[in-house]
Formats: sequence, structure tokens, C-alpha cells
Amino acid sequence: MAKTATQREREYAGLRAAREYKNYINGRWVASSSGKTFENRNPADSEDLIGTFQESNADDLHAAVDAAHHAFNPWRLTPAPRRGEFLYRVGEVLRRDKEKIAREMTREMGKVLAETRGDVQEAIDMAYLMAGEGRRLFGVTTPSELPNKFNMAVRMPLGVAGLITPWNFPIAIPAWKSMAALICGNTVVIKPASLTPLSVIMLAEAFEEAGLPAGVFNVVTGGGREVGEPMLKHPKIAVISFTGSTEVGREISVACAPQFKHVHLEMGGKNIIMVMEDADLDLAVDGALWGAFGTAGQRCTAASRIVVHRKVHDQFVEKLAARTRKLRVGNGLDPNVDMGPNISASQIKTVEKYVKIGKDEGATVVAGGSALTNGPYAKGHFHEPTIFAGVKPDMRIAQEEIFGPVTSIMQCNSVEEAIAIGNGVKYGLSSSIYTRDVNKAFLAMRDMYTGIFYVNAPTIGAEVHLPFGGTKQTGNGHREAGVAGIDVFSEWKSIYVDYSGSLQRAQIDTE
Ligand code: NDP
Repeated sequence: MAKTATQREREYAGLRAAREYKNYINGRWVASSSGKTFENRNPADSEDLIGTFQESNADDLHAAVDAAHHAFNPWRLTPAPRRGEFLYRVGEVLRRDKEKIAREMTREMGKVLAETRGDVQEAIDMAYLMAGEGRRLFGVTTPSELPNKFNMAVRMPLGVAGLITPWNFPIAIPAWKSMAALICGNTVVIKPASLTPLSVIMLAEAFEEAGLPAGVFNVVTGGGREVGEPMLKHPKIAVISFTGSTEVGREISVACAPQFKHVHLEMGGKNIIMVMEDADLDLAVDGALWGAFGTAGQRCTAASRIVVHRKVHDQFVEKLAARTRKLRVGNGLDPNVDMGPNISASQIKTVEKYVKIGKDEGATVVAGGSALTNGPYAKGHFHEPTIFAGVKPDMRIAQEEIFGPVTSIMQCNSVEEAIAIGNGVKYGLSSSIYTRDVNKAFLAMRDMYTGIFYVNAPTIGAEVHLPFGGTKQTGNGHREAGVAGIDVFSEWKSIYVDYSGSLQRAQIDTE
């Protein structure tokens, strides 16, 4: 039965009323010069309007970059520990408002509350980590080859950082990028995903409350073509940091090349869980369930492939399928729900397309397999959590990123074969092994060519103080988070101080 307007209001009580949100440029909330806005709706309930957002254009982007460029020098010259104090205050605001922000994020993006709380927590963790980094930003000191000479290398900021962010971690990823950029002394312009602008607006509100100087942090909402592309060509943007699809990442890489802009790309994944014959099978099933269907499979680290030793294969498939069928799908604001909607109708189409491809390739659906469209699902973008068994490593469902609640189970005869299957894709983000055999664990730890590796845990669960990113077509050699994250937003300057009072020639000029 269709819900009445009153029922809906009650359901969304305590959440923000729909209104028009502005861009955040130079410390002020301003409308786009286009005069246009776009709507943002709840992926679990298309009748729930979250708000309207500025449909910005290149002029708005230029205004934000000018503000960020103007703010750069004073911000660069603000002592790093003081910059860190601003970030700490942002962390405090996010911590205070964690529940409210998480609820808005579930409404905007769909994943269940426990996961959006985690998303905000990642932003808080990163704020605190980078606040502390303000008192480190370690460089290098070394002996000199000459007497009375001092050598060091220090980090310097780049200038204005352009950040292009996705919808699946709508606060965590913008926070990861912006906190690292800001602590190094850069200023920031963010273009959030058009599907999740509110989450980044809420982050901007936290920065505003923390008293960040005007122009240091700016947000311009709008389309990838209209706002994102002009960022890539803007001469005053020194570094672009992007998370999203490999296709768009490739375009960004090409567009940034003529100006030799620094570019950090964080893209797709086809991550694998390897289950060995000696594994704790129930633990592996727990991990696979969470890894495959957390965020409805819409994580770049999602466990979209599972390879299981033939001795335990049938038992594993049976257990995982039974648990998967019990998952409750629905609105992520409902505490009884395990898995929320997908982000959009087009994402559901992609999932349906791959389910058909999998069937046509000869794989067998052992759980789920269909979009959910009736009753409580009628107004949202829902799909059953879906498992394919009998998958061969070269099938498209085992090679291509689906970004939905679908995982593919394959068989292997040894850890070596599992590793070969694991490495046999174009991506290299995350992988994991379930085993009680330390030799197998170390072998896989050494030979899996992924940026992240887990033992007896699923492919998801990164912590902010370790580097995050992947090899091959997942990335372009950079990492975010941890100290590696500040490498993206700083450049090295080697400094030689000669206090001998005489001209000393370096060894290369004397021997
Ligand atoms: P996209 O790569 O299209 O979008 C990511 C960000 O880039 C968004 O802010 C988007 O803006 C922006 N963008 C899009 N086109 C351009 C462009 N030409 N120049 C500059 N910026 C641009 O990802 P989608 O959100 O459309 O998702 C598509 C697929 O990407 C998913 O199915 C998944 O495979 C992958 N993905 C991977 C993620 C990861 O974490 N690795 C995260 C999200 C997606 P706008 O939103 O306005 O289009």
C-alpha cells in the first residue's frame, strides 16, 4: 500500500526539511551564476526530496579557484600546528553531530546507518590524524659530504587542490582528501558527486563552524562535465585528486597532462577473498557476507570475487547462500535492515545487465538474482544480494567491476592457484585470505599484487593511518590516507646550508 505524506513525514522526522543549498565559496553560501538548481532524492524513496543544489558552471568554479588562490599564501604561512588545530575542531564538530550527519547521509546515499556512522567516523579519524600531522610533517635531515654544511629536505604545499569525489563514501573521501591537502598548506575546491552533494555541504558547515579562514575550503556542486572538467584545465589548480570510475580517471589523467598537473587517481576494484581448505569456514562466511554486501556492494574494496578450495567449496557456498537469503533489504534508516538500496536506477540497470551476462556465461545463481520493485521497494532502487557459483575466472562477471550486490564464487586446488586467479584481473585494490596456515598467509601476503591485503578478514575495513589505494588500473601509483596521503599534496624541497664561510664545491665537482 502506498504510504501517505504523513507517514513519510513521520519516517523522516528529525531530518532536514528540503530546501535550496548553495555553493560555499570564499566563506559565503552563494548561488550559481547559472541560476539553475538540481534535485537530490533519497535512493530508497524517490518521493523524499532531500533538497535542491546549485547546478554550477565554469564561472562558479573560477570564482572558487580565485578565492582558494587568494587564500593560499596566508594559509601556507599559517604554522602547520595551527592549521592542525582547525582540523581538530572540525573533527570535534563532526563527532558532536555524528548521528545527525549519519542519518542525513543514509537518506542521501542509502547505506545502512551503521555504515554511515562509520563513514562519518572515518572523517573524524582523518581530522584527528591530520591535526596531529600538523606537528610532524616530517622531512629529512642527512649528513653532508662536506664539512660545515647542513642538509635537509622539507615538504612544501602545491597551491590550490581540486578534489573530485564519488557518492559511495560521501563524507569520508572528501575528508580524506581535504584534510591531507589542508594540513600541508594547500587550499581546496571540492566538486562532490551530483548524487551526494549534501554530505559535502555538511562537511563545509563543519569547516565553517570551526572558523576556517575564508577561501581555504570551497565547495562547488554540479556536473562532472560542467564543473569537473573546467577544474582539469584551470591553470591555478596545481593538483587534482579524484576517486571514481576508471573510465573518468583515464579522461582526467589525459586532460591534466598538458599542464603537468599533479594527479592522484583512486579508481575501480575487483577484489577477492581466498578461502583455503584449512580456513575457519564460519569466519570466512561472515567475512564474505560483509565484504560482498556491505554498502550493497558499492565499495571500491567490495569482495566481488571469492575463490574457495574445492575441498570446502560446496559447504562454503551452501552456508554463504543460506546467510545471504536471510539478509533484510530496505531503507537504511530502518534499524532492522541489513542492506540498503543501490544509489540510482542506472546502477540497478548495470547490476541487472551483469546478472544476465553471468547467466548467459553459464554461471549459476545460488542466491538472489533479481531487482526488487514491489511493495516497500517500489519507490527505490533495490536489488537482492546475489551470488553466482560455478564461475570461471575469465568470465566477465569475474573480471569487470559491477558495483552492486553481486559476488562470484570460483574454485581452486591450491593457494598458488587462488593467487593466480586473484591477480588475474586488471585491477589491484584489495584482497584477502582465510587460512589457519601461516605459510599460506605469508605466501599470499607476498604474492598478491594489491595495494591492500587482509588475513582472516574481508577485503573491506581500511584504517586511516595506513596508505589506501591500489595497483594496476586501480590507481596511478599514489596513495591516500596515512603519511602516503600527504605525499599527494606536497612537494619536496632539498635545502643545503653551507656555514663554512668559503665556497665549497660538492663532491661531483671536485673528483
Ligand atoms: P564517476 O567516475 O562518473 O564519478 C566520480 C566523480 O567524477 C563524480 O564527482 C563525477 O561527477 C565526476 N566526473 C564525472 N565525469 C567527469 C569528467 N568528465 N570530468 C571531471 N569529473 C567528472 O563515477 P559514477 O559516480 O558515475 O559511478 C560510475 C562507476 O564508477 C561505478 O559504477 C563504479 O564502478 C565506479 N566508482 C568507483 C568508486 C571507487 O570508490 N573506486 C566510487 C564511485 C564510483 P558527477 O557526479 O556530477 O557525474
